[in-house]
Amino acid sequence: MDEEANTITPKTIFIDGHEIPFKDGQTVMDAALAAGIYIPHLCHHPGLTPHGSCMLCTVDINNRSVSACTTPAVAGQQISNNTTALNEVRKIITQMLFIEGNHLCPSCEKTGNCTLQAMAYHLGMLDGHFPQFFPRREVDASHPTVMLDRDRCILCELCVRASREVDGKNVFAIAGRGITAHLIVNSPSGKLADSDLETGDLAAHICPVGAILIKEHGYEVPIGRRTFDLHRVGEIGLEKVMLAKTRHTDE
Ligand code: SF4
Ligand code: SF4
Repeated sequence: MDEEANTITPKTIFIDGHEIPFKDGQTVMDAALAAGIYIPHLCHHPGLTPHGSCMLCTVDINNRSVSACTTPAVAGQQISNNTTALNEVRKIITQMLFIEGNHLCPSCEKTGNCTLQAMAYHLGMLDGHFPQFFPRREVDASHPTVMLDRDRCILCELCVRASREVDGKNVFAIAGRGITAHLIVNSPSGKLADSDLETGDLAAHICPVGAILIKEHGYEVPIGRRTFDLHRVGEIGLEKVMLAKTRHTDE
């Protein structure tokens, strides 16, 4: 990217009436985050290829609904983000994510550190609204230090991208489509124990929910000191805090 050109030619977009600058190559999400504006998201993580699957970052641009994480910023865009209508759609998406899995927060080690749970609070979700699916997906506890509970997986593919793009491995993938879509492990047996996954891998720590957990640290951090006891989900740059939490480097 030509840094000099970006500084010479000011380019701006408007989010909820606020004029913010962007650089060539940035998406609407990139520009918003750089300006300290929160657009709700679950499958976006700075530094990883945008995926556009969770749809929580849906914004309206010139009366068209698009994903902020995959839409390039273009000068003059008029973008609606924090509106009652969009937040209602985001709440419905969040409710659907809850009922598609088995999310029993009080018994989940991720509670208080979970972005899905925090998103539900952020959007004022009071119940699942839709009938529960109660899926029965495979739990993989074969790995010595990492466990995988697919019942909590929201198919955000953060672990897939982190493994491929940062760890230089290909431990995870999504198989199937629609209601049959599920996370698979690339190993001869399909088990984590036979994969290349190591405790230090980003893929072992990036899960926004309690689907991938590090073993032997359960409930070490008490309720009241967890990420979302201390931070709002809309804080910019929270990813670093969350990774420190799951890597147990902030205690
Ligand atoms: Fe609750 Fe998050 Fe655990 Fe699901 S993963 S049960 S939303 S804390
Ligand atoms: Fe996303 Fe976690 Fe599922 Fe991986 S295991 S796809 S990070 S929810």
